[in-house]
Formats: sequence, structure tokens, C-alpha cells
Amino acid sequence: MKNKERHVFLECTECRNRNYTTYKRLRADYKLEKSKFCPFCRKHTAHKEKKL
Ligand SMILES: [Zn+2]
Repeated sequence: MKNKERHVFLECTECRNRNYTTYKRLRADYKLEKSKFCPFCRKHTAHKEKKL
């Protein structure tokens, strides 16, 4: 992990499970939102970042 990056969770917007972790630039002024497969919903859903 580089200095200017940090870990964030990607949280399913439907069931609120934190299914993925990823890296993000420090002080980035955007919110990550990705379509990922959620094993709890058993489909692709929008996942939004949450801090660790
Ligand atoms: Zn889900």
C-alpha cells in the first residue's frame, strides 16, 4: 500500500454488507461507486465506499 492511498470498503447499497475492499487516493474528492456482485443479494448491485 502506497502512502497516498488508503483502504476503503465497498458496501452493498441494498443489504449493507461490506463485500469488497479496495484502495483509493488520499484526499480524492469523489465517492467510489461500483457495480459488483453481492453474494448476499446474489446479483450485481451498486456498492459504495465506506471508510475502514
Ligand atoms: Zn447485497
